[in-house]
Amino acid sequence: MGALRAQFWELPLDTLTRAEWEALCDGCGQCCLHKLEDADTGEVLHTNVACKLLDIETAQCSNYRNRRAFVPDCLRLTARLLPEIRWLPDTCAYVRRAKDLPLPQWHYLLTGDRDDVRRAGVSVAGRVITEDEAGPLEHHIVEPSFGDAGASTGTKARRA
Ligand code: SF4
Repeated sequence: MGALRAQFWELPLDTLTRAEWEALCDGCGQCCLHKLEDADTGEVLHTNVACKLLDIETAQCSNYRNRRAFVPDCLRLTARLLPEIRWLPDTCAYVRRAKDLPLPQWHYLLTGDRDDVRRAGVSVAGRVITEDEAGPLEHHIVEPSFGDAGASTGTKARRA
């Protein structure tokens, strides 16, 4: 990973280096859960079923570098794409910075502890099943239930 500027998370998203962009992710794993779209209403339906590459105990991708070789439709998140994506959680660092909101107070870039995302109840680690064992996704529709503890705290204005 390249050098990271001091408090780079307060900078506009479109000015971040690749390394800074990657470092912004809190590792919650929520974007790695399958979603369904209601054909009639367009509503996004959440499931508790994880992508086959997600380590469901740690909420980390087991092959991040080569993930698109195994999951071709895995989205590569960019600042340009963000406004079009409706299913990312409100806690997502990219979503918040795109709205010029601060990082959640539990974000590891602020606390120095990557496990704080789990303590905040935001990580999917240990709370989901893998698609290899799930069967039909329609049987696993859930209310979005991963917390947003601390996401709304702090005042508006910063990173990107
Ligand atoms: S939802 Fe956002 S912060 Fe959480 S793992 Fe996905 S990209 Fe990272």
